[in-house]
Amino acid sequence: MLYAEPSVAPKYTQLVPSRITDSVLSHPLFGLSAEELTARLVEAGEAAWRGQQLADAIYRQRIQSVGEITTFSKELRERLQARGWEVGRPRIAQDFRSVDGTERYLVEGRLPDGQAGPDTVETVWMPEGDEGEAGDGSEEESAENGKNWSRATICVSSQIGCAVNCQFCLTAKLGLQRNLSAGEIAGQVVTVLDRQKVEIGRDRVNLVFMGMGEPFLNYDNFMGAVRLLVDEVGLSPQRMTVSTSGIVPGILRFAEEPAEIRPKLAISLNAPNNEVRSEIMPINRKWPIEAVADAVRAVKLRPRERVTFEYVLLAGVTDRPEHAREVARVVRRSGLPAKVNLIAWNPGPGIPYTMPAPEAVDSFRRSLAGEGVAVYLRRPRGRDIYAACGQLKRTVEGG
Ligand code: SAH
Ligand code: SF4
Repeated sequence: MLYAEPSVAPKYTQLVPSRITDSVLSHPLFGLSAEELTARLVEAGEAAWRGQQLADAIYRQRIQSVGEITTFSKELRERLQARGWEVGRPRIAQDFRSVDGTERYLVEGRLPDGQAGPDTVETVWMPEGDEGEAGDGSEEESAENGKNWSRATICVSSQIGCAVNCQFCLTAKLGLQRNLSAGEIAGQVVTVLDRQKVEIGRDRVNLVFMGMGEPFLNYDNFMGAVRLLVDEVGLSPQRMTVSTSGIVPGILRFAEEPAEIRPKLAISLNAPNNEVRSEIMPINRKWPIEAVADAVRAVKLRPRERVTFEYVLLAGVTDRPEHAREVARVVRRSGLPAKVNLIAWNPGPGIPYTMPAPEAVDSFRRSLAGEGVAVYLRRPRGRDIYAACGQLKRTVEGG
């Protein structure tokens, strides 16, 4: 999940008023692959070759209404609309912009037919990127794409809430509300690409599945979304990173995915040893560090690909000098080509930890680097929009 410095008072700009509608579409097309769209067309007595056109309209041209698909004749558009066919892409219900350019969106999800809805998920746009590499001190590039950013990262949610119960995480406080569908996960991305006028193949956009939720506890929908994003939207899986708290069966399934479709992998290590990890991440009692590392070793990494270990620094709990040495040992023992992303913990209401001192963060980083570990410090983004996962949702719901 993403977060902000809560010591800074929320000073957000609300760009669009909330417009949450309650229409449940009878035939949302968004979320179906080109193949599924083709099958649906054929079933309706239409030509099969229209399937790819429909997929291109929805995912590449980002058309939101069947009535606007100009590659279709007026008659065909009207026939489909008369049957109740609609694109049904998730929409941005509300957005917040930070002074640093970060934008946070409440994206309106669509519940399956027959259920009440919709409800919202959080998605974040970070121009200039902040998914690890961006913390490497590299110079900001001047935008050559005519936009005010040269690269960007979209942080995507996979569930509403989370069941994993990490003690330092705000999303955990919500519990698991529900899984997102593949269309709702991919829909966050397409909606933001559209908002930012991203040109696929030209602009540098990375995706991180690090928003709300545990992607590997919603595996089929998560990978379904990745497939849509690769096959239909045209994004590269090598520009996507999925973060997991260490769900071993999920990692083993992930290891079976073909390289053409598999994103890069990040593991939330967050502790120097099993004792501390079990305390702050109860899931560690089920799948301890060694079990997670064994599972990760089953993933056939691409040339030069590295696994990321995320490490949240909690004052006194995970940020001591001896912890840095232990982390270096854990990384070495894993035998994995790896890098460590340090994240200074951000507090939230009712969470009993303390932020690390800047000096502790710095000496932790230097100590790991001194041990020969590739280490990056993740820059906090969107501080002034009080961007903690879960918190924004709460403010909107009037909590
Ligand atoms: N559920 C997945 C992905 C979402 S969490 C996972 O846990 O990996 C993404 C990252 O945010 C994780 O590395 C998590 O450890 C980190 N995180 C959670 N709460 C945080 C907080 N309050 N401050 C800093 N990082 C946090
Ligand atoms: Fe938060 Fe990730 Fe843990 Fe879920 S698994 S509680 S999102 S850190």
